[in-house]
Amino acid sequence: MLSTMQDVPLTVTRILHHGMTIHAKSQVTTWTGESEPQRRSFAEIGARAAQLAGALRDELGVSGDDRVATLMWNNSEHVEAYFAIPSMGAVLHTLNLRLPPEQLVWIVRHAADRVVLVNGSLLPLLAPLLPHLTTVEHVVVSGPGDRGPLTEAAAGSAVQVHEYEDLIAGRPTTYDWPELDERTAAAMCYTSGTTGEPKGVVYSHRSIYLHSMQINLAESMGLTDKDTTLIVVPQFHVNAWGLPHATFMTGVGMLMPDRFLQPAPLADMIESEKPSHAAAVPTIWQGLLAEVLAKPRDLTSMARVTIGGAACPPALMEAYDKLGVRLCHAWGMTETSPLGTTSNPPAGLTAEEEWPYRITQGRFPVGVEARLTGPDGDTLPWDNESAGELEVRGPWIATSYYGGAGAEPLRPEDKFSEDGWLKTGDVGVISPDGYLTLTDRAKDVIKSGGEWISSVALENALMAHPDIAEAAVVAVPDEKWGERPLATVVLKEGASADYESLKAFLAEKVAKWQLPERWSVVESVPKTSVGKFDKKVIRKQYADGELDVTEV
Ligand code: AMP
Repeated sequence: MLSTMQDVPLTVTRILHHGMTIHAKSQVTTWTGESEPQRRSFAEIGARAAQLAGALRDELGVSGDDRVATLMWNNSEHVEAYFAIPSMGAVLHTLNLRLPPEQLVWIVRHAADRVVLVNGSLLPLLAPLLPHLTTVEHVVVSGPGDRGPLTEAAAGSAVQVHEYEDLIAGRPTTYDWPELDERTAAAMCYTSGTTGEPKGVVYSHRSIYLHSMQINLAESMGLTDKDTTLIVVPQFHVNAWGLPHATFMTGVGMLMPDRFLQPAPLADMIESEKPSHAAAVPTIWQGLLAEVLAKPRDLTSMARVTIGGAACPPALMEAYDKLGVRLCHAWGMTETSPLGTTSNPPAGLTAEEEWPYRITQGRFPVGVEARLTGPDGDTLPWDNESAGELEVRGPWIATSYYGGAGAEPLRPEDKFSEDGWLKTGDVGVISPDGYLTLTDRAKDVIKSGGEWISSVALENALMAHPDIAEAAVVAVPDEKWGERPLATVVLKEGASADYESLKAFLAEKVAKWQLPERWSVVESVPKTSVGKFDKKVIRKQYADGELDVTEV
């Protein structure tokens, strides 16, 4: 029997229309570094999105599923692009502005981007690449920044340069949005590509809609129109974890830091705009912590923070608890839109009983099915002990990567199982009540004499030491054991390294055979383009003899 229900497509257009009408007065506030931030209501954002779509179609000839890229900070023009481009039927391609230039060029050409929207402050990055971006016909610039380098680079080429505000000025503030199939592409994002070429994940209207609804459940971030969220996670990093879409569904105010991502302006922003929620990777919260300990600011408006993208050290959670800010751990990846788990503890527990749940990566929502696969392909039990590779499936999880124009989608065997699950490359355990604890990336696990050592467990234990600001542990080759851990540590200001006592401190928390023999003090831990520890670089530094290693 078929249902008797309507089959209304789940689209980004619908989210846009809802936000700009039902939550017309909610605001996107963009930090400008000057006395007054820029404030734009959802109604204005909707009207400007219609103007942008009109300009893209009528002036720039964008049609069908053309790719329109953005090379932008988090700001209101970027939100306008988020809604205008997918809603007109084109595909939004957010470019990671921290990627090495050759990767950016590769990605733009692979996606065949026809248009790039760019912030003026990023022209020094874009202009030298322009001659290599062979698919790009138009560049549209918004916000402050010298236009000189771009004008020069575009001179004599076929690329046309436009000013965002001039392009949309005077255009109709409504647009005849097409009726779209919910399964068509709305947006794409390439994985950070630490190994091999970057891979494009293409989100559908439907996946974005369902993912946004999940974010809005109290079980996940659960924000309402009484909230304002400080979105530090870049709009190019998995759609800012889905927040711009989710907020338009429920009228949550967005506070956008633009290019002011350093700890001091972030602290000022929080103190003056008083967001109730924020989202960013651990590195940002580490930096902000040091800043407010040195120069106190009131962060207490920000009662809840979603932290993910890399493991959150429990010591960081404790430090923020003391400041009245609750960090809530979440796990996800580009391939999962990204929300996979959120660590809200189950009901009825005391604060002390909640703690072991808070430090897990969290619990799976209804839309994400999970299984753990052991080295021999067996499905492992959820007993909080059996460690295996996490595999997931659900309506906002990728089933393949973009193959390029006219090419078949890519389904690498190490990423997708034969029966259609995504192999995450993350290793961990799951408790009987569905809480995931990740112990490592499969490629970062330290295989010592046939046993596995979790680099994350060692890092978390080290980062609880009062003298240590950051710690990254990697596997290095060892004649006797195959691999052994190398601990690289960043000391807090004024602290000195006493490896014997660091080792003794660790010995209270991990088994003796897991204790690193090799230690090195470093100035900073190398980070990837999205702020994660770049262990590939540390391993290479070690192999090239660039680290000052002491054996203890
Ligand atoms: P990306 O696609 O760049 O967002 O990277 C996804 C990867 O980041 C995951 O596969 C994990 O290895 C890592 N990751 C994300 N969130 C967490 C978390 N809460 N704890 C540990 N690792 C995480």
